[in-house]
Parts: sequence; C-alpha cells; structure tokens
Amino acid sequence: MEIEDLKEQMDRLVDESLLNRVNEKDFSIERIFNYPLLKAAEASDPLFDKLKDSTVIGEHHLAPSEWLNGAKSVVSYFLPFSREIREANRVEEWPAKEWLYGRIEGEEFNKLLRQALVDSVEEAGGKAVAPSLDSRFKRTDLRSNWSERHAAYIAGLGTFSLSKSLITENGCAGRYGSIVTDLLIKSSSRPYSGIEEYCNRCGQCIERCPAGAITGEGKDVQICSDYLSNVIIPRYRPRHGCGKCQTAVACEKVIP
Ligand code: SF4
Ligand code: SF4
Repeated sequence: MEIEDLKEQMDRLVDESLLNRVNEKDFSIERIFNYPLLKAAEASDPLFDKLKDSTVIGEHHLAPSEWLNGAKSVVSYFLPFSREIREANRVEEWPAKEWLYGRIEGEEFNKLLRQALVDSVEEAGGKAVAPSLDSRFKRTDLRSNWSERHAAYIAGLGTFSLSKSLITENGCAGRYGSIVTDLLIKSSSRPYSGIEEYCNRCGQCIERCPAGAITGEGKDVQICSDYLSNVIIPRYRPRHGCGKCQTAVACEKVIP
C-alpha cells in the first residue's frame, strides 16, 4: 500500500466532511483543519522501545507489535488547525471560541480520520489498529499508553517544542493521529536527529502561557493540567482547551 493513497483519501475528507466545519445558528467555522501531513515509520523502529523508558513515557507504553500482532508499519499524521482557528487564538490569555470548538468538535473529525485509515487498510486486505480508538487505550499519571506525538516524531513529522508539542512544517497548532498496520508501507525519512532540533528557544511560548507552566527547562504538565481543570473547564464546560503555546507565531517560522 502507498502512503499517497491514504493521503488522498484524508484530503478528500478534509474537503468534504461535515465534521470538519462548524455551522451553528450564531457561530460557524468554515474549516477546522487543513490537509494533514502524513508519514510512516517501521513498526520495528528501535525508538518505539525507547518510549518504555521511564525518562520518556514509561513501561506502560505499548509497542506497535503489542497493539497488533505482526505489525509492520505505523502511519502517523499531523492535522493542522486552519488559519482561522490559529489566528483567533493569538489573542492573549483566554482561549478563542474557535480554538475551543476546534479542540472538542475537531476531535470528532480526527476520530473519523483514524477510522478511515483503518478501513482503507482493511479494504486493501490488511489489519490495522488505531491505538487511540482501541479499548486498551488508557492514561496513567497524565501519560497514555500510546503517544501520538512520539509516534509522529518517530515517523519524521517534527521535533518537540519547549511546550512539548511537535514543531512540524505547519507549526505546532493541530492534532495528531496514527494507526498500526500489518501492511508494509514504505517508511518516510526522519530529517533530524535531535528531539528538540527545530525549537530555537526564542521563549515566545513561555510569554504566552497564562499558567506559567513553561520555562526554559520545558513544560510542567501538572501546572498546565491544573490550569485546564481549575480555570478553563469551569469557565467553558463542555469545551476546554488553551493552546496559547501552540499558537506562538515563532513555531510556524522555524522550519524554512
Ligand atoms: S515559541 Fe520559540 S521557544 Fe517556544 S517552542 Fe516555539 S520556537 Fe521553541
Ligand atoms: S496549553 Fe496553555 S496552560 Fe498549558 S502550557 Fe500551553 S499555554 Fe500553558
């Protein structure tokens, strides 16, 4: 199976799916996400084993072969938020309404994309699992047993930012998804060697964080999580999100 076939199908869904837009009586978003960046990694890439190290994620992180017997490839994508959503969230402090809808309603579209990839593989005669949709998926101490961002890093989509998102060709503001499959899909190049290679340490995300969760040492996930639980969720329930760090303009300019 060719990765281009999967990309074509995803692009079509971005254009046509009603889940990729918001159309309410008094609020609309023409397009939540732009076209995804898509890459593939070998399921046996030794970096997947490294994720079991407690200094990275931990023993509970499952390798591709633990999600799917006979796994050969991991297909990973970055789904960038549209310009409309990014620019709306560049205002200070509070999350833009567009961002909150993108984060929550947008995730329904992201689930559709993951399932569409699984369906495509099965139609081609293979097996596939989308770990984030699987009943075994769980989170322990803020760390899940499948990290979409680390899979994206391994597949070559980008390197980590100070705020622990991924800096890709299309910046940081977006969502991730992946599947594990027993079909062999040609792996992509990983055009970097360091985990934070694209971050230029400009500090813009530090200044933008309303919770003070980011320092020159990185992001304190507990401070960020407490801010979301104690400040954002009570104010915006049933939606939540912040993303001030991910919408730093600097992150969109570091990869030429
Ligand atoms: S805003 Fe600057 S310091 Fe923060 S992640 Fe982006 S490039 Fe790195
Ligand atoms: S999501 Fe918001 S609170 Fe959390 S690190 Fe980013 S800017 Fe700070």
